[in-house]
Amino acid sequence: MFSKRIADIRRQNGMTQAQFAEILGVSTGTVGMWESGKREPSSETLTGIADRFGLTVDYLLGREGRIAQLPDISAETPKSEIEAEFGSMVFSDSVMRERLPERTYRMLKESIDLGHDLTPAIADVIANAMKDWAIQKGATHFTHWFQPMTGITAEKHDCFLKPHGDKVIMEFSGKELIKGEPDASSFPSGGLRATFEARGYTAWDPTSYAFIKDGTLCIPTAFCSYSGEALDKKTPLLRSLEALDTEAVKLLSLFPGNRIKKVCASVGAEQEYFLIDRNVYYNRRDLLYTGRTLFGAMPPKGQELEDHYFGMIKPRVAAFMKDLDRELWKLGIPAKTEHNEVAPAQHELAPVFEEVNVATDHNQLTMEKLKTVAQRHDMACLLHEKPFRGINGSGKHNNWSLTADTGENLLKPGKEPAKNLRFLLILCAVIKAVDEYQDLLRMAAATAGNDNRLGAAEAPPAIISMYLGEELSDIIASIEKGEDYKGERERSLKTGVHSLPEIRKDSSDRNRTSPFAFTGNKFEFRMLGSSQSIAGANFILNTIVAEEFSQFYEELKGKKDFTKACEKLMSRVIKEHKRILFDGNNYTGEWEDEAERRGLLNLRTGADAIPTFRDEKNIDLFVKHGVFTRNEVISRTDIMLEDYAKILHIEANCMVRMARQDIMPAGFKYEELLTKCVEGKSRCSLPADTEIRILEKVDGLMAEISEGTALLDDAVETLSTLKVPIEQAEFCRDMIVPLMASLRKSVDSLEVICDKKVWPYPSTGALIFSVK
Ligand code: ADP
Ligand code: MG
Repeated sequence: MFSKRIADIRRQNGMTQAQFAEILGVSTGTVGMWESGKREPSSETLTGIADRFGLTVDYLLGREGRIAQLPDISAETPKSEIEAEFGSMVFSDSVMRERLPERTYRMLKESIDLGHDLTPAIADVIANAMKDWAIQKGATHFTHWFQPMTGITAEKHDCFLKPHGDKVIMEFSGKELIKGEPDASSFPSGGLRATFEARGYTAWDPTSYAFIKDGTLCIPTAFCSYSGEALDKKTPLLRSLEALDTEAVKLLSLFPGNRIKKVCASVGAEQEYFLIDRNVYYNRRDLLYTGRTLFGAMPPKGQELEDHYFGMIKPRVAAFMKDLDRELWKLGIPAKTEHNEVAPAQHELAPVFEEVNVATDHNQLTMEKLKTVAQRHDMACLLHEKPFRGINGSGKHNNWSLTADTGENLLKPGKEPAKNLRFLLILCAVIKAVDEYQDLLRMAAATAGNDNRLGAAEAPPAIISMYLGEELSDIIASIEKGEDYKGERERSLKTGVHSLPEIRKDSSDRNRTSPFAFTGNKFEFRMLGSSQSIAGANFILNTIVAEEFSQFYEELKGKKDFTKACEKLMSRVIKEHKRILFDGNNYTGEWEDEAERRGLLNLRTGADAIPTFRDEKNIDLFVKHGVFTRNEVISRTDIMLEDYAKILHIEANCMVRMARQDIMPAGFKYEELLTKCVEGKSRCSLPADTEIRILEKVDGLMAEISEGTALLDDAVETLSTLKVPIEQAEFCRDMIVPLMASLRKSVDSLEVICDKKVWPYPSTGALIFSVK
């Protein structure tokens, strides 16, 4: 009887099984099983359904007759929809408080806050509560969810099922919650773990909540080797947070009246991406294999009219965004702002900032959801840094700040920044950190994909500099000179329209060209590539700032006149490091020259930037703060270099195939057509000068393409023989990349004179304007 009742309720509300399942927080399959009578819900779920629809359990089970009218659930106020859904798939603090015995909850909180180990018995209780909650939400499996060095997330699903006599029971133990052992031999380890030592462990990270994704309970974990070396992106991030907290709290304790006992980094990662129609996507094997177009002439109209930026969102994209938001909200991801970006088909999503470890997990999930939700809407989401030549690429802006347990944002200048000693001291620490570790920050953004974007006047150049804005720059200048800051800045905005309300200005304007800009109460690191994990940039930021805090502490501790000591220190730091400050346009050639005069680094490519990771000064930094061992730094550098070379290897290979199998045959067809024209005309005794001119041009380009393909093919062959990662990366930079660029140039020239009907791929224009 239940089966019929539940189907009736669904139909009367005009919903599909999927929609209905979503509302009830179960899988579509479960609804199917209920309706076919194969399964019945637990009594708890039954009560939930009854409550939801204002019915009784007896009615649902058919023990009560018909009721006159079913409530219309679609009439619920849309306002509460977000609130009801937000975090519904997260085993969050409130769920834990509700479901865990009070003592267990308290011990778990303590273990999170103070880093205590959990006893096995407590872990069992938590695991069991998690499992019950997950099963009620329709989950059948669990996985340790981790972030290996591939930059994407990994999961291996296990069912809760356990045989019990001739039946099964659903079980999940504390041991399974705390530790996992995936066969890790195929994840990059940079030589830290030979294949015969394939043991890798995943360890539960209780600071990031477990969640349900696609019917699976996902437990965020750190991933390390048998001997405890980090094999992932999360472990160093967590270690860097400890270092930051320790050093910040030490330094702040010197301030009279300090109440801060814990400091954490908060991050909001703005994510750019492209959406194109799935049909055109599948017609481009470069997109399929490498995520970007390796060939493709510029379309007649690109982004020059700037008519896409913040423009109206197309209905198909709006539907996608709506769906995406809901998916993200369910996972507790505070997606907030969505808008069109500069390039056609380019969009951006910005979440509300969170504690950095959680923000990192959430950004990984956001990238995954962008892809899967796009697929559902018959589109492909491109996260590559440079999907199309001549069209702006995609980045990720890492907004970073420091938050204290008192709720204060330590990078907030306040009403009178010049008198805010704590703020100014922290600002000086960041200035010193960014100058001394320019190489590491640059390295954080170094990938083969991002090489296509940095320095191309669409993203910051490869040179690290810092933007502070007028007011802070003036304050910094007076501190340097040891003078009082007298500048009075106009703090309200004059629009010239009296009917508009008065608006307070931020203490800094924006500089969209700066790689590291102060934006009012946070720093925006704008160099990262759109497909990158933000973990790397943040463990570097946390560690380098921790280092400066530690140096400042050593210098300031025990000083009688603390304020004076601070002023002296700040003045010196500014003198020594002001070369890193630059408020002008970073996209110009003059800045490149000026930066060179100032002695700033200009690490143009990934192959130049990545090896700086293992410079002695950087190894010392990471070892001192317990973020990496020497071995971990060395192996990580190799992983990054290998990754860089592997990507270019695949791209070069793909280009060779495309040129030989598709592009040259298309050229031959066009030549054949032209030749026939010439022959035909000559039979009619007509001059064929035009055709011959085009034919000559095509023939010339075909020769270039054939030659360029052969050269690239040879280079790929040579690349395969190189064994040392740095040699591979440098060979890619010096040989593969220039050969790819030159082959592309010939092919793109051919595309624009060739018959469109014979061209084997949708054009760049067809791709970027594919979503109507
Ligand atoms: P802006 O207008 O300066 O771009 P927004 O408020 O739009 O600022 O924020 C841009 C991004 O910066 C958002 O993801 C936001 O959550 C994040 N952000 C804001 N404040 C902080 C902070 N204190 N720490 C980290 N990120 C922050
Ligand atoms: Mg931004």
